[in-house]
Parts: sequence; structure tokens; C-alpha cells
Amino acid sequence: MQPAKKIKPGKKVKLSHYDPEPDTGLSKEEAAERMKELSQEVGDLQESLYAAGQNSVLIVLQGMDTSGKDGTIRNVMSEVNPQGCRIESFKVPTEQELAHDFLWRVHRVVPPRGMITIFNRSHYEDVLVVRVHELAPEEVWQKRYEQINHFEKLLADNNTIIMKFYLHISRDEQEERLLEREQEAEKAWKLSVGDWEEREYWNDYMRAYEEALSRCSTDYAPWYIIPANKKWYRNLAVAEVIAQSLRPYRKRWEGSLSKLAAEKLAELEAMRNAK
Ligand code: ADP
Repeated sequence: MQPAKKIKPGKKVKLSHYDPEPDTGLSKEEAAERMKELSQEVGDLQESLYAAGQNSVLIVLQGMDTSGKDGTIRNVMSEVNPQGCRIESFKVPTEQELAHDFLWRVHRVVPPRGMITIFNRSHYEDVLVVRVHELAPEEVWQKRYEQINHFEKLLADNNTIIMKFYLHISRDEQEERLLEREQEAEKAWKLSVGDWEEREYWNDYMRAYEEALSRCSTDYAPWYIIPANKKWYRNLAVAEVIAQSLRPYRKRWEGSLSKLAAEKLAELEAMRNAK
């Protein structure tokens, strides 16, 4: 199963060509079974990543309000040791952040070796909300696509494995989810007038996303479009890509671990023999 669409570098993305709710022939029960296996695998991969300490993993989550960034993190990372994983959320920049280049606040929180960091929103906001609401002049945000590609290349060249997910929901689905929040007391904290106001800019956001996905999907930091109208399907699709992307490293990580174990054992033996 390959439910996520990986964007080939240079491909011009038209989001209306991607179905947020494709017919998969997969039942919810089958998906739950598969999800269990995958979450376990992601947990195991994280353990090897952590122990080997050779690579870091950066996962970028973007999507319209209610697209399920929080839910994705909760589900996909359910079997990951919290000590090896950090979530970084990007809000409206502070005055201090605005006084620096837009990548300053981002670079400080990229994952060190052995760690997974998930960006809940990211540096892409600087070519999304900033573009839609004209928070910076066009000549400023236009340059950012290339700057982002250079930045991500720098990270990739320094052993960071990067995956970027756009959680694709329809405008109707968003309306349903916003209305649902009003009915559920435990979701009341998420209610915001701003969400309804932002909805009015839906088409502008789609255009901004299309350009970001078209210009910033690279071999070293690919974008994936995730059909996200169905939550269980979204979780499965993201987990599948993460497992698939990390699997090829497993042998190398385990190899370096065995080497490390042999060295440590030899040291212990030498210490004992010296007595
Ligand atoms: P979330 O919706 O992610 O759960 P919030 O409701 O606090 O959290 O929303 C964060 C807000 O910060 C979003 O509206 C987002 O567009 C905004 N934001 C993030 N990065 C930037 C940025 N670089 N410039 C302007 N606004 C930003």
C-alpha cells in the first residue's frame, strides 16, 4: 500500500487533482491492524536510531486548521519512547524572532543525532500565512523557497532524514470539523473565531501550498500529500511513509550498534584482565 503521494522534484502540484478521501478498498479494521504493526515498527526504528546516534529525523507537518496535525502526532508516535522524540510548534513569531531571519528560530530546534523532531507547523508558514496575509513583501517571501531548499540541504548533508507531510482535507470536511468542535465540550479549548476567518482565504492558501509543494519537494526533503479526510487513513499513510523512509537505515544502525557493543565489551574485558 502506498497511500501517500510523494511529490517528484520539480513537479507542478495542483491540489484539486488529489482526492482527500480516495477509495482504498481498505476497511477500518484492516487499517487498525496494519497501524498497530506500523506504530510498533516506528517505535523499534526510533530505538535503533537513538542507540546508533548517526542520523536525526525531521518530520514536518503542515495542513489547514483542523487537518489533524495533533492527532497525527498522537497516533503515529504512540509507540515511540518520548525521550527520543520532540515536538516543536511554530506560532506567530515573537518580536525577537522577527528581528532575525525567518530560519533562525527553526534552526535552533532541529533534531540532534539520535533524535526525532516533529514540526507542528514549520518554516513553511513563512511562505504560507505570510504570503496569504502579505505579512512580508513578495520580494521577501519569493526568495524563501530557495532559501528553504538550501537550509534543508544543509540539514540533509549533516545526516538528517527529512520527511514533509501536507495533510490534505477538503473545505467541506473542515467546516464539519469546526462545527463538531462547538458540540463537544472537551474540544471547546480549540474553538477560535480566527479559524472561521482563515477559512475565507481557503483558495489563497491552496495556491500558496501548491507553490511550496511544487518548489520545495526535493530528493533529500520530499513532500508527501496525505489524504486526510479520514483520520484513520491519514494516520496509516503517514506511519507508512515514516517506516518506509527509515527502514533502509536499519541495517547500518544495527551494524554500528554491534560494533559499539563489541568495543565496550572489549574495554570491560581489558579492565578485568588488568586487575
Ligand atoms: P495551531 O493552529 O497550530 O494548533 P495556533 O492556533 O496557536 O496553533 O496557531 C498558530 C498560528 O501561528 C497559526 O495561525 C499560524 O499561521 C501562525 N504562524 C505560525 N508561523 C507563523 C509565521 N512565521 N508568521 C506568521 N504567523 C505564523
